[in-house]
Amino acid sequence: MSKHIIIIGGGFTGTALAVHLARLGSAGLQVTVIEPRPQLAQGVAYSTSDPAHRINVPASRMQLAGDEDGAFDRWYRDSPGFKADRNALWSDGNVYPQRGQFGRWVNEQFLQEKKRSAVKLQHLCDRAVSLRDGVVTTASGEKYQADEVVLAISHPPPALPGSLKTLQGHERLIADPWQPDALSSVKTHDRVAIVGTGLTMSDVVASLHGQGHLGSITAFSRRGQLPRTNLSGQYENRTLDYRQPQVASARAWLRRIRQEVARAAAEDLPWQLVLDDIRRQGQAIWQTLSLNEQRRFLRHLRPWWDVHRYRIAPQVSAELNQLQGSGQLSVTAARLQAAKDDNGSIRLTLQPRGAAIEDLVVDRVIVTTGPAHGALLNSEALLRQLADDGVIQADPLALGIHVNARSQTLTAQGKTNLHLYVAGPAARARFGELMGLPQVAEHAESVARQLLGISSPSHRERCPFSLTD
Ligand SMILES: Cc1cc2nc3c(=O)[nH]c(=O)nc-3n(C[C@H](O)[C@H](O)[C@H](O)COP(=O)(O)OP(=O)(O)OC[C@H]3O[C@@H](n4cnc5c(N)ncnc54)[C@H](O)[C@@H]3O)c2cc1C
Repeated sequence: MSKHIIIIGGGFTGTALAVHLARLGSAGLQVTVIEPRPQLAQGVAYSTSDPAHRINVPASRMQLAGDEDGAFDRWYRDSPGFKADRNALWSDGNVYPQRGQFGRWVNEQFLQEKKRSAVKLQHLCDRAVSLRDGVVTTASGEKYQADEVVLAISHPPPALPGSLKTLQGHERLIADPWQPDALSSVKTHDRVAIVGTGLTMSDVVASLHGQGHLGSITAFSRRGQLPRTNLSGQYENRTLDYRQPQVASARAWLRRIRQEVARAAAEDLPWQLVLDDIRRQGQAIWQTLSLNEQRRFLRHLRPWWDVHRYRIAPQVSAELNQLQGSGQLSVTAARLQAAKDDNGSIRLTLQPRGAAIEDLVVDRVIVTTGPAHGALLNSEALLRQLADDGVIQADPLALGIHVNARSQTLTAQGKTNLHLYVAGPAARARFGELMGLPQVAEHAESVARQLLGISSPSHRERCPFSLTD
């Protein structure tokens, strides 16, 4: 079989897909990953070199394939990175490495497959700028003919919230904290306001603490909810009793999860076990919900789901607790009403929940509202061209790109593009839970199988339950 598959984007998803293709494919197959960064498997999440940015689950749960069983954990414990990081080992024996370590390991797996596999693997250090008739054109002007193309681009830069538009370009506004050295301009005693209270806020607070910042930090979001802490210790997985009839609505699932959490608590078991089980079955559950119920989930339940599902490393959680305890960090539920320059500082007008409007004057405002997934198709030239040509469209939930159940993209008219796929989180409107590593790795493997025409383990094998209306 002679075939050329081009993967556009070599973050975790694109690299994982290339590794799976190398493991499952055979001679004659050529796989090219187009990625402008000099190293693969970095992307937004794993390109950070800040020692304060840790993986938010134990290393033993970070993997490329379901059967690896702690391969990264073993590699990491043997690496100089572990020896140099005296905080990586937590008291329960789990390790939470700096995030870049994981990218390094995945890149190493790619290089090993490149040497070992009969499949020809290549990393092209370039940016794809257009795709027409199976020909990918790159920023350097090269053209590459592909039989199949996979889009593996997930996280656009954050968008500026509407109420901060008045500050666009202000030198004290840090609109994208993921830019290298974004926080280096923050002075030791600067008063800081952080818009958002999720994972990116946790990263930012940990970085500020790491660089010796001593000024006040006020983090706010509408609900003021912080990501919860990971479970410490070893527990058996818990599995819901899926034989129990279940109505496929967001409200019914909320009721059901509450019941299960109460049941677990009665057995002295933590809620995290129930949420982890739901997450493992998340894709199957999501696909039983109608589009309306999916919308309802996103509108009403997503903020709660996110803070319970996306947790933080215990080291980061301890830091946040310490800073809150000392009064340096305050986290509040408030809506931002207005923002303006105030003699070189910034004045924010906040409407706290259940309290009177108040003003907050700070030296820096940092936006941590996360990637603007709803604007993905407008975030860069290639996706814009494909959308403008009607080749792809945004999904109806504004989470990424519209795909069918085989991860093939759909044209503006809803027709299937048989040779243009999406891998990773940009496909999550179709599949539901597709952001954490295990699910992204599993999706990359499933797309690899589709591309090679190899059947996947059946849905029933992976998800042994049926839901009834
Ligand atoms: C800050 C952060 C921290 C996270 N931490 C964890 C964690 O601790 N544990 C966990 O399980 N999950 C975590 N996640 C979730 C998960 O790991 C990510 O969602 C996953 O890494 C997705 O990566 P990706 O490759 O799909 O996308 P991206 O990271 O967006 O990578 C896309 C790549 O495509 C490239 N690219 C873009 N446009 C083009 C183009 N036109 N041509 C060529 N290349 C292009 C970019 O350079 C980039 O490298 C985290 C996510 C984020 C954002």
